[in-house]
Amino acid sequence: MTQPSYTQGQQDKPLLSQCIGDAFDSTVARFPEREALVVRHQGLRYTWRQLAAAVDQHARALIALGVQVGDRLGIWAPNCAEWCITQFASAKVGAILVNINPAYRSSELDYALSQSGCRWVICADSFKTSDYHAMLVSLVPGLGKGLPGELSCERLPELRGVVSLAAHPPGGFIAWPDLQAKAVATSPETLAARQAQLRPSDPINIQYTSGTTGFPKGATLSHHNILNNGYMVGESLGLNEHDRMVVPVPLYHCFGMVMANLGCMTHASTLIYPSDAFDPLATLRAVAEEKATALYGVPTMFIAELDHPQRGEFDLSSLRTGIMAGATCPIEVMRRVIDEMHMAQVQIAYGMTETSPVSLQTGADDDLERRVTSVGRTQPQLESKIIDAQGNTVACGEIGELCTRGYSVMLGYWNNPKATAESIDGDGWMHTGDLAVMDEAGYVRIVGRSKDMIIRGGENIYPRELEEFFFTHPAVADVQVIGIPCSRYGEEIVAWVRLHPGHSVGEDALREWARARIAHFKVPRYFRFVDEFPMTVTGKVQKFRMREISIEGLVGGKSG
Ligand code: AMP
Repeated sequence: MTQPSYTQGQQDKPLLSQCIGDAFDSTVARFPEREALVVRHQGLRYTWRQLAAAVDQHARALIALGVQVGDRLGIWAPNCAEWCITQFASAKVGAILVNINPAYRSSELDYALSQSGCRWVICADSFKTSDYHAMLVSLVPGLGKGLPGELSCERLPELRGVVSLAAHPPGGFIAWPDLQAKAVATSPETLAARQAQLRPSDPINIQYTSGTTGFPKGATLSHHNILNNGYMVGESLGLNEHDRMVVPVPLYHCFGMVMANLGCMTHASTLIYPSDAFDPLATLRAVAEEKATALYGVPTMFIAELDHPQRGEFDLSSLRTGIMAGATCPIEVMRRVIDEMHMAQVQIAYGMTETSPVSLQTGADDDLERRVTSVGRTQPQLESKIIDAQGNTVACGEIGELCTRGYSVMLGYWNNPKATAESIDGDGWMHTGDLAVMDEAGYVRIVGRSKDMIIRGGENIYPRELEEFFFTHPAVADVQVIGIPCSRYGEEIVAWVRLHPGHSVGEDALREWARARIAHFKVPRYFRFVDEFPMTVTGKVQKFRMREISIEGLVGGKSG
């Protein structure tokens, strides 16, 4: 009988049974004088002892402000030292940190604050074209009128106060330095008593998932969920106190706050933030100047670094490892990262916010082929299976929906039991919505989102396969394949192509090239040459937007 697509990760690797604050304290106690955090765009550097001083001061200030266990504390800022300090301080006082996407505008902010019932918000003053202060004032008319910390707002009844990272914010906001000054009102013993009262299973973080349809859902995660996930990710990379990791991914996403911040904290590795938002040049410079050993990124970040005209100026030879994750990791890009960025031990991780995030990861011992073509095997203490539409586990080699079970599965969606029940079944399996195939050794390949699969004239077409294929064309820098409706075949294939600088290839030439190499039904009907794809801040290509744009561009029957 063929083996079923089911695996367990290593079972004899113990989970951590602490809360995040206690794990932080034990790292500080072990390595007080080693470098903990470098924030290059703010010119800040902290040892673990200095970071602990900042975290404890902030935690005591939050208690003095009136922050209670279970209060939702929103953070709305690009990558910065205060984000990291707030993450650890909120975990120490038991406030549930609500990550607010820096790209949100007022209506999304309104939704996140009211859906999570935020009591406190910490915000930057502005970022790119967003004036955070102005957006908050328009949303909370009482802000600036009453006493800071005693807000009363009809549409956000739970909101009490807004802290600004600006040194001199407008009236009504609590300035960060003023908040820090409140710390004296809370003794270290009071903070220790608060910390001792927390349990690993308590919710500590809400992350809104990108959600391509409907409203975003707030994945609610416990200390146990995310501390262990960061720990296991770091274990897989073999991180230790000598590692120095450059983190260009956003902190508001689990790639930043769990895989980087908690991954490094549990291993006493140094965190290096190169910039407030992704900047390929700042990232390359940070790797070279900080002699980094590890680098994280979503595939598009690595592509931008590889293609950067100044890449050759930087010595990247200190790099050893890192993770590419968050979206399909093209084989060619993985090979180039290994060969051209010296990341011989780079790994691919697969996961989703709802599972803390990582469920599968390649390992340092995997052979090169598997390290570039698969998302690896099930992480320790987790289970994976692949099921068909009826919920039965398919045989190895067959495509189906990937499901994950174990310590990493979220507590649920915040205040949304219906959505929780639709995603986590009665046996505790999180249904990912991703299509995958497992081999007999347990290695998994992701073939796409179930809703992205194209069915053309009855043939199932997996965008991932076509994207990998077009990547082998020398002029193609990046490619995304989607399906759009068509009256004749049900769907037609559209390829969005970004060419390497200085290369040119026409639609007909690309189609001819494909025709000679792949089955005719997989050859895209349309090509669209672009300079960029519609992306989320976390580097996820928005295929639904591409579909809308492609359909708009083809009105007039051309798509039939
Ligand atoms: P998010 O919750 O925003 O982290 O998004 C999770 C989704 O990202 C998953 O359901 C996958 O569709 C996609 N994803 C994450 N990692 C990978 C990977 N290594 N390969 C392919 N898709 C991935």
